[in-house]
Amino acid sequence: MRICVVGTGYVGLVAGTCLADQGFHVICVDRDEAKIAGLKEGNLPIYEPGLEDILRRAMRKGALEFTTDGHGPIAAADVVYIAVGTPSSEDGSADLGAVYAVAEQIGEAMDGPTTVVIKSTVPVGTADAVRARIAARTTETFDVISNPEFLKEGAAVEDFTHPDRIVVGCASPESVKVMQALYAGLVRTGRPIVFMDNRSAELTKYAANALLATKISFMNEIARLCEAVGADVEAVRLGVGSDSRIGPRFLFAGAGFGGSCFPKDIRALQEQGRAVGLELEITAAVESVNRSQKDLMADKVIQRFGSDLSGKTFAIWGLAFKPRTDDVREAPALVVIRRLLDAGASIQAYDPEAMTEAQHGLADHPRASEVAYTDGPLTAADGADALVLMTEWSEFRNPDLQALGDCLVQRVIFDGRNIYPPEVVAEAGFEYHGIGRTA
Ligand code: NAD
Repeated sequence: MRICVVGTGYVGLVAGTCLADQGFHVICVDRDEAKIAGLKEGNLPIYEPGLEDILRRAMRKGALEFTTDGHGPIAAADVVYIAVGTPSSEDGSADLGAVYAVAEQIGEAMDGPTTVVIKSTVPVGTADAVRARIAARTTETFDVISNPEFLKEGAAVEDFTHPDRIVVGCASPESVKVMQALYAGLVRTGRPIVFMDNRSAELTKYAANALLATKISFMNEIARLCEAVGADVEAVRLGVGSDSRIGPRFLFAGAGFGGSCFPKDIRALQEQGRAVGLELEITAAVESVNRSQKDLMADKVIQRFGSDLSGKTFAIWGLAFKPRTDDVREAPALVVIRRLLDAGASIQAYDPEAMTEAQHGLADHPRASEVAYTDGPLTAADGADALVLMTEWSEFRNPDLQALGDCLVQRVIFDGRNIYPPEVVAEAGFEYHGIGRTA
């Protein structure tokens, strides 16, 4: 089977590379010329552990190619993936401009029977709209499959190649066979391909993300109660999560969730409800809790140091929205940095992978020049009034507390991910501010 993947970002690049590694011939298309030029040299535009080795292996075998011109690859393909972004529009709904542009391009370029697979996260009804756009431009036979992606950045290769399940929404038995053939190598261990109709597949993706986000916001709300009543959210988390009906994952209290999926997907889900006259109250509450949670670390700093932070410097450890990625889309660290800059502070930041992305993300702030991007955690802490930990990269987990204390002007830690045992840092002479627990 010849495959064309349109959109070579976190999802398209991982899908294209892994499918090429599975023995298919894959051509990845993106309109971003710099990205494609780099990929042709074997250089990844993103940080994703394990991806570069597979990419270079597939390229050496001639199984993986890159181009900015989709016409020929689409015409030659048996299967075309749509993997472009679906960011939030101003009203919170998913912006489907890129998806529809690719659908129209597919309709114009298609030359022979083609299976079109929508990998992007799209609202219910998008497969129908894509089908109509293609049909208006071709007389070839084709089918549109809804195949949402569940990979996590930072573990994307493992998630794509060893998925918990693969969700496929389609109408025809021929498409079932195509999808079974495409993914046979990924479900050998018995993981299911769950077949359903297009609309249910589209909604499954949003429901899954909203439920995971709900667990996080719920625990963050419980953390606030813990702080107010003198309980320890870490103990509560262990007690709650060991119930097999609940499970231990996505229960960590922290500085809020960010990233390219949860925030935009819960907004888009609410919009889908509103479009049919339904207020999705739980999802709305999840978003509202998260919005204030992202402000929490800045609130704590201001409570401790005062609302005028002029002349103060804060070290920020971690800028990516989570460890093992360079993605800073909607990252809580950027929200905190903006608030501290607004209050007059200067920032010394360090992240192992996300500094360039963060610099772009903060460039529009009038005091962006007050953020220094440093070459290591201790350089970031050097001369700072306090440390604010925002992303739980492993290299931040066991700092040399003596050296850290010597760097900081005041021994104060704000732990936005609850990774430090309060008693250990307190013993080392630090004032500790975590989430949902007292020092
Ligand atoms: P991304 O922004 O990293 O990549 C999208 C790519 O599409 C970009 O490289 C862009 O240049 C390209 N593009 C846009 N319009 C194009 C066009 N007309 N022709 C060719 N290329 C075009 O996005 P992503 O994070 O990979 O997400 C893609 C989709 O997958 C989204 O719908 C997202 O919600 C979903 N998703 C993302 C993740 C994740 O962890 N990032 C996980 C599951 C699902």
